[in-house]
Amino acid sequence: MPHILILEDEPSIAESLVFVLQAESFSTHWESLASNALAYIKTQPVDLIIMDVGLPDMTGFEACKQLRKFSEVPVIFLTARGDELDRVIGLEIGADDYVVKPFSPREIAARVKAILKRMRPVTATNELMPANNKPQEFLINTEHKTIHYFQQLLQLTRFEFCLLQTLLEQPGRVFSRDQLLAAVGVAADAGYERSIDGHIKTLRAKLRVINAEKDPIKTQRGFGYSYQPEAHQCR
Ligand code: CA
Repeated sequence: MPHILILEDEPSIAESLVFVLQAESFSTHWESLASNALAYIKTQPVDLIIMDVGLPDMTGFEACKQLRKFSEVPVIFLTARGDELDRVIGLEIGADDYVVKPFSPREIAARVKAILKRMRPVTATNELMPANNKPQEFLINTEHKTIHYFQQLLQLTRFEFCLLQTLLEQPGRVFSRDQLLAAVGVAADAGYERSIDGHIKTLRAKLRVINAEKDPIKTQRGFGYSYQPEAHQCR
């Protein structure tokens, strides 16, 4: 069930979004302050954010800029103003879509679905493509189910491939063990949660053989794991 964060200070708008998204089987969380939303994203995995531009503590643009320092989660902006400048700024700082108020909540739900659908573009292509535009780091070939790390082919089990692909596709996102199991195709209630730790350990060992200095898979204590691309590690 995709988890949608709604960042909107007008309760009536937030409530209508919660209503329509829950009716479409999404889980939702609502924040009215950008600072609270940013704190929330650091502790909870979020699949998509619907973000108002006019917020009490900072603009949605500023919030998105801060968000992009640690997360690539898709963002849909909501704004009262329909001018082209807002639209351009929004897309330049990394928004995925843009909706002008007043809007129909059903329209938003349709856009959410469309974005989540194209979130997994890597699985649709057969080309060797860089993860996170970092060709020197990881290259995923989805047809051959191979991943190169610093130009060297990783010898991975199917489980390890799925695990690493899931982490690479959403840099910065923290996955719980249950979410990683689900991504690999194992039922989360099967009691295998801790087996993820073992697989991550062997995965890290394989990466270390190729490059001993990097440690791209991060342990998020008490929660799970994430892939932190090089650029993010420097900040
Ligand atoms: Ca507002």
